[in-house]
Amino acid sequence: MANILGRSDLQTADPEPAASNSFSRAALRPIEAGSYVDCARCRQRVKFQAKIRLMQVICNVYDQGRWVKVEHYHESCYLETDLAYGPPS
Ligand SMILES: [Zn+2]
Repeated sequence: MANILGRSDLQTADPEPAASNSFSRAALRPIEAGSYVDCARCRQRVKFQAKIRLMQVICNVYDQGRWVKVEHYHESCYLETDLAYGPPS
């Protein structure tokens, strides 16, 4: 299955560098049942729906190497941010 960037080769891209926990990054994950987070862009609930397997983008936000917060986005909303924290892994 192609990912949201229309590329199917991300899984084989560079392995995560050792210092990967010190900069902002995004990850594409399935929305799980019982999710109670709001999208950082549209402020709507990132809602689990049993019939559709929706994806969310979870971003760990770092400022100058220090973790600040986690942001959640609808997959489509994250694309509208022009990949604020880089392409989701
Ligand atoms: Zn949204």
